[in-house]
Amino acid sequence: MIIVMREKARPELAEAVMREIDRMGFKSHPIVGVERTVIGVIGVETSELVPHFESLEGVERVLTILKPYKFVARAAREERSQVMVKEVCLGGKEVVVIAGPCAVEDETQIMRTARVVKEGGGKILRGGAFKPRTSPHTFQGLGEEGLKMLAAARAETSLPFVTEVVDPRDVSLVAEYADMLQIGARNMQNFSLLSEVGRSGFPVLLKRSYSSTIEELLCAAEYIAREGNDQIVLCERGIRTFETATRNTFDVSAIPLIKKLSHLPVIADPSHATGHWDLVEPTALAAVAAGADGVLVEVHPEPDKAVSDGPQSLTFENYSTLMKKLARIAQAVDRET
Ligand code: PEP
Ligand code: MN
Repeated sequence: MIIVMREKARPELAEAVMREIDRMGFKSHPIVGVERTVIGVIGVETSELVPHFESLEGVERVLTILKPYKFVARAAREERSQVMVKEVCLGGKEVVVIAGPCAVEDETQIMRTARVVKEGGGKILRGGAFKPRTSPHTFQGLGEEGLKMLAAARAETSLPFVTEVVDPRDVSLVAEYADMLQIGARNMQNFSLLSEVGRSGFPVLLKRSYSSTIEELLCAAEYIAREGNDQIVLCERGIRTFETATRNTFDVSAIPLIKKLSHLPVIADPSHATGHWDLVEPTALAAVAAGADGVLVEVHPEPDKAVSDGPQSLTFENYSTLMKKLARIAQAVDRET
């Protein structure tokens, strides 16, 4: 059950509601948002409780949510959430493009890419400094050196950046540099990492695992939200199926479905979804047509020399062509780029 307090209700009223929840033998879990406070009621609920809680001062409405996630559920909020990454708004009218290499390899590579990302209209730079590689014998990222290179690229281009964190012990280090923390597919159910990024209060890009259902993705987001952090963007990046011709199978219907089930913004990653650069553009266009709030693409100055994910990386030229086509699709579905 979720109790939504009125916009601008005084904090004492939320405190009184929580005392009442405790008095009745339930546990209360407040999430203090910018506009309003939402209080989760944890314990065995019955619908008879609704009128009682609704009668308390400052309460706007009470929602019984039978799903295993509550705070990120569509029903928990009237309006869609918007997530701010510095000045960039995800979940508004604009379709936000996040672009950059799979991994930060050296200063020249990230700097050249950042300039092209910016010129083409990308709003957020990406690049992995801590790489969650399937094999421990492959390149694991430059670590803090890579974060410093991303920060230098931000200083020159003024693009905020998102980068992955793979270990709860690194959250504070990555948060010293990054503007948004990414949780990758392989860590989607790393619950201690989810809670740690939740406590950091930083905007989070949470990628769907290739082997998870949409409900599991929303439950993972709930771990972050439960810590009081509602700055979460979800990302569909393809799931594993019997098909081997593509790296993963892009689940386009996940985008409108997640938007029906949750108030959080949803973006698509056609690079990891398909694994082939020539499939990235059509898949990105389909994602935007299906209502994606943004697109994440891998771009590299020389994809054939990339340390990781070269085959799915766009050249600068292909990135620029994609951006032009994306603008036209966005316009067709009443969005902006
Ligand atoms: C990435 O975005 O760099 C990445 C590793 O993607 P995923 O976690 O979706 O595989
Ligand atoms: Mn990659």
